[in-house]
Amino acid sequence: MSAYKITKYNYVTQFPALSDQLLPEIERLLLDGRYVLGPATEEFERAFSAFLGGPNVIGVNSGTDALLIALDAAGISRGDEVITVANTFYATALAPSRLGAVPVFVDCRDDDFLIDLDQVAAAISTRTRAVIIVHLFGLAVDVGRASQICSASGIALFEDCAQAIGARSGDHRVGTQSAAACWSFSPAKNLAAAGDAGAISTFGSKLADKARLLRHFGQPAQNQHDILGYNSRLDALQALVLSHKLPIVDDWNRARRAIAERYRTDLAGLPLRFQEGGGPDSHVYHLFQVRTESRRVRDALLAHLHSRSIDAVVRYPVPLHLQPAFSTLGYRPGQFPIAEALAAQTLCLPIRPDLTDSEMCYICEAVREFFGMP
Ligand SMILES: *Cc1c(COP(=O)(O)O)cnc(C)c1O
Repeated sequence: MSAYKITKYNYVTQFPALSDQLLPEIERLLLDGRYVLGPATEEFERAFSAFLGGPNVIGVNSGTDALLIALDAAGISRGDEVITVANTFYATALAPSRLGAVPVFVDCRDDDFLIDLDQVAAAISTRTRAVIIVHLFGLAVDVGRASQICSASGIALFEDCAQAIGARSGDHRVGTQSAAACWSFSPAKNLAAAGDAGAISTFGSKLADKARLLRHFGQPAQNQHDILGYNSRLDALQALVLSHKLPIVDDWNRARRAIAERYRTDLAGLPLRFQEGGGPDSHVYHLFQVRTESRRVRDALLAHLHSRSIDAVVRYPVPLHLQPAFSTLGYRPGQFPIAEALAAQTLCLPIRPDLTDSEMCYICEAVREFFGMP
C-alpha cells in the first residue's frame, strides 16, 4: 500500500474484472506444467501480432532484454555506434552498452520532448550501425521520417515502444515500421503483466529467427549450443495475464487520453507547459508531464503535491549523458540543454485509466492552489 492518498499506479484495480476467466486458466496452467514458453506464450504472441498488424512477435523476459536481444540479433556488437536520445529510461542505452556498442546521445526537442531527428541525421558517422528512437511518455516519434534518415545511410532503425503500446505514427501503430521494436509489459506500463515481461516485434523473418534462438540459450535443439544466447523467455503465466488485458488496452488508452485532456483544460492559464505535438491517436499518455519555469518551481510544486498526498514523480531527474554509468563516454553538463532543462523543470501528475473525476479535481485544485489561482 502506498502512503499517498492519490497514487501514481494502481495495478490491482485491473484484476477483478478479469479474475472470473483468468483464475481458472491459471489453475489449468498450473496443473498442465508448461510454464516456460509453450501454448499460452504462443497464443499471446499471436494475439499481439494481430494487434500490431502481423509482425513476428517474440516474447521475452523484459523490455530491457527485448532491446538487448533485438540489437544482438541484428548483429550490433563491440565498437558499433548506436544513436539514441539523452532523455529516456536508462535501459534504452544500457542495451547497446551491454553488447560493447557505444551509445551516441542526441538532444530532444523543446516542444514534444522527443528525440530530435535533425540531430540524429547530424550524428551519423561511418561507425553508426543503428538508431533507437523512443516513443517517450506515450507519444509517437515520426517513424516515417526516422526511417528515411536511417535508410538513406544504410543503418538500422529500432523502436523503444515500452511506453507507447497502441500509439500511432501516421497510419500505423508504433512498432511496425522499423527493423525491430521492443516492448515492456512490466507492471507500470500501459499493458502490464503481473511481473516482468517483454517482447520484440519485427517483420524481418531472419531477425525474428535469430531472436527466438537467442532468447532460449541460443540452442536450436537440446544440448546443441551454436551461439551465445540468453535465458529470457516469456513465462506462460505472464502470457495468460497479457492475453486477457490486450483486448482492453485501447480502451484504457482512451481513458488516459481523456484524463490528459482534462488536465490540459483545467490547468490552462497557469505558468505550465505540456508535451505538445502529434495527432489525436499519437499519444497514449503513459505519463502526463507538466513543465514549470525552473528547477526551483518544479521542486516546490512537487513538495506541495506530496504534502497534499498526491504521488507526483520526476521522470527522469538525470539525463543519461550525466549518469555515472555512462561517465566513461565523456559527456559534460550543458551538452544537451533541452534534455537537461526537462530533467530540471518537469514532473508527472498521476495518470491511470481508473483515476476518478474527484481525484482529478483534487489534483487540479492542488496545482492551482500552488500557483495561487484557485
Ligand atoms: C520500462 C522501459 C524499458 C525497460 O523495460 P523493463 O521491462 O523494465 O526491462 C525500456 N525503455 C523504456 C523507455 C521504458 O520505459
